[in-house]
Amino acid sequence: MDRLLTPDEREHHRRMLTLVLDRWEDQAHTWENGALLPEEVVTWTAEQGLLGAPLPASVGGGGWRAIEAGLLYEALGRVSISLASLVNVHGMMAQTVARWGTPWQRENVMPALGAGKRVAAICMTEPHAGSDLSEITTTLAERGDDLVLNGTKVYITFGQRADDLLVFAQRAGRSEACLVSRDAPGVTVTPMGDMLGLRAAGLARIDFEDCVIAPEAVVGKPDFAVPVLVPTALEHGRHAVAWMALGMLEACFEECARFVRTRRTFGSPLLDHGQIQTLVTRMGADLEAARHLCVAASRAMQDKAPETMRSVLLAKYFVCRVAQEHTASAVQLLASSGVSERSVTARAYRDSKVLNIIEGTEQILERTLAPLLVGAAGAVR
Ligand SMILES: Cc1cc2nc3c(=O)[nH]c(=O)nc-3n(C[C@H](O)[C@H](O)[C@H](O)COP(=O)(O)OP(=O)(O)OC[C@H]3O[C@@H](n4cnc5c(N)ncnc54)[C@H](O)[C@@H]3O)c2cc1C
Repeated sequence: MDRLLTPDEREHHRRMLTLVLDRWEDQAHTWENGALLPEEVVTWTAEQGLLGAPLPASVGGGGWRAIEAGLLYEALGRVSISLASLVNVHGMMAQTVARWGTPWQRENVMPALGAGKRVAAICMTEPHAGSDLSEITTTLAERGDDLVLNGTKVYITFGQRADDLLVFAQRAGRSEACLVSRDAPGVTVTPMGDMLGLRAAGLARIDFEDCVIAPEAVVGKPDFAVPVLVPTALEHGRHAVAWMALGMLEACFEECARFVRTRRTFGSPLLDHGQIQTLVTRMGADLEAARHLCVAASRAMQDKAPETMRSVLLAKYFVCRVAQEHTASAVQLLASSGVSERSVTARAYRDSKVLNIIEGTEQILERTLAPLLVGAAGAVR
């Protein structure tokens, strides 16, 4: 990784690794049984300025550049994808409001989110609408001077903990999004447990029943939510997921490297066996490619380059796909010691599957990437 970074970025990366690993390394397995990160971890994340770090300084955030945020997600991903997801969903929601919110929202809602005093979640998915958000049936309807929200959202990361929700809905057939406080009358939060991965990410089903929304809480213009707000949130989310998957894979590779050097079978270290060399070479080579794609995505984002969408999609797609392949290889390689619930590899194996579903499934990313990549083929001549 060091070779791809400037001296300042290398220093920032080391700071992130020290900060996160010194405090939380080897603790994630204790969080996974509780379905929600301990409050102490959420408070630590906010107090360290990590929740608001990637948000613009103009709204009270840390104003970190994309590469700095990426390196934070990499460090968090080494420890726990649930912890990385706390920062991610907060950022997805808050970045969207920071970018498209009204002056009132920037003044009244953003400072607490930027400072990490309140935690945010983003509510798009419904029981019958996941990949295809045009199928959202939650409604926002006018009632006197106010609006009322009715509907159900599911699989909301940190829905059990978040204070402020960005909820996507339909208003007279047009897509809109509004801010809702979880304490508002008519909001019911029900924990969703028993997940394959992200087991400490406090997933929830959230029901809205005649929930009164003030007009100031609507974010963006009419028919703005799915075409504009969703891509803004997803760009942040996909960049973050690529980097956290990279961190998770780095941790697995380091575990495998230690093991193949020290574990001996049939009179020699594992590393001397050809099949093991194939496994670790494939893992190491894909890891190197993944680092390049993550750094390229961050640089494109912070430069506001025209290829940003393509770079972010490619990084999310590639890193999550190889993470799924190689976390399975890591468990195979570590064999009995890799399947324990306490092991880094077992958790990564479970989490990697989920990373291929959130912020756009592998198939949904291919719908955009395939024509982009095919369209660019031969363009140099
Ligand atoms: C752990 C976890 C956390 C989550 N957190 C959040 C959150 O915080 N907020 C939120 O709003 N949502 C969240 N989600 C929901 C997530 O975004 C959706 O699961 C995801 O978008 C996929 O939607 P779906 O599950 O409804 O699958 P569907 O859209 O029903 O898709 C089912 C399958 O069909 C495939 N498919 C769909 N359409 C096509 C097509 N046109 N071509 C080819 N294949 C297709 C999909 O790839 C998938 O394999 C979370 C989900 C999980 C598992």
